[in-house]
Amino acid sequence: MADQRDPDCLFCKIVTGDIPATVVRETERTLAFRDIKPQAPTHVLVIPKDHYPNAATLAAADAELTAAVLSEAAGVAADEHIAESGYRLIFNTGAAAGQTVFHAHVHVLGGEQFHEGLV
Ligand code: 5GP
Ligand code: ZN
Repeated sequence: MADQRDPDCLFCKIVTGDIPATVVRETERTLAFRDIKPQAPTHVLVIPKDHYPNAATLAAADAELTAAVLSEAAGVAADEHIAESGYRLIFNTGAAAGQTVFHAHVHVLGGEQFHEGLV
């Protein structure tokens, strides 16, 4: 089991309320809040409240929590009325992928037409 909080982690501070965020959904073990620099009309981050540095370490440690994060991402899409039109779920993992916050999170992006392909 990972340490529940990392005192130097930005998203852990959002979980504890030390840094404010616009929360859109919350469960006992997950939090969903709007990205501070949205890249699409809907841009929400879903995180486990416990600290894991990325999606791979989260998945290796806790399958149930990983599933909860994905379920909440689907819940965000439904709440934001983008479930039908379509949306992207992105887990940046590692610096080369552009990960800048090393607390596992999935980006929920939608509300516009994306290009086909991945980038
Ligand atoms: P990454 O690049 O690590 O996959 O994504 C980190 C995301 O966190 C970025 O999209 C960035 O805009 C967002 N972010 C960084 N600092 C904050 C913050 O203080 N509050 C919120 N709500 N989002 C943040
Ligand atoms: Zn953290």
